[in-house]
Amino acid sequence: MLNIVLFGPPGAGKGTQAEFLIETFGLNHLSTGDLLRSEIAAGTQLGIEAQNYMEKGELVPDSVVIGMIKNKLALSNNTKGFIFDGFPRTVEQAKVLDNLLNENKTPISGMLNLEVEKQELICRLLSRGKISGRTDDQSQSIIENRINVYNEKTFPLIQYYSQQNKYYGINGMGVITEIAERLKEVVEKIDN
Ligand code: AMP
Repeated sequence: MLNIVLFGPPGAGKGTQAEFLIETFGLNHLSTGDLLRSEIAAGTQLGIEAQNYMEKGELVPDSVVIGMIKNKLALSNNTKGFIFDGFPRTVEQAKVLDNLLNENKTPISGMLNLEVEKQELICRLLSRGKISGRTDDQSQSIIENRINVYNEKTFPLIQYYSQQNKYYGINGMGVITEIAERLKEVVEKIDN
């Protein structure tokens, strides 16, 4: 199985690039942000709980996100692998994910980090906010909070995966198709 963590700060292009990788390598997409937004749209208890955190640009508690991922993994048989997008976001989440995948002997193959400058992230998110209507993409202060939360709680995962020799840094600036090509080259290398 090919299990990829697509990593990077908010606005790095994870969702966009996940679409290319799914198509090229036939993988399942698992985006915790998308899953949480579906829960909110469906008005579930989990969605109501998550919404307060998401609106402020804070992380949803590990227990909530981990429970959601466990359910999804249990329901997804017969897959070539997963693209994890926006998950894990804390070292605790990464440890739980490793345990879950190791139980099935299908560990993470690699973590691909899309590297993008802060000013570019803010520009991308503000313009996405105008199109998508996502409220957390519409305010510069919420965006800056999300980037700060990323730096504090999520960035340490680079070291976590480096220690396992699974870290790959990818230039996430420039033309979308060229970034996709850079990712594809790395995934092909990992897949061999
Ligand atoms: P995203 O769509 O990945 O940008 O996520 C949007 C928001 O959902 C984040 O700002 C968090 O509030 C929440 N979220 C998504 N994934 C996670 C996660 N793995 N852990 C905690 N919160 C998350």
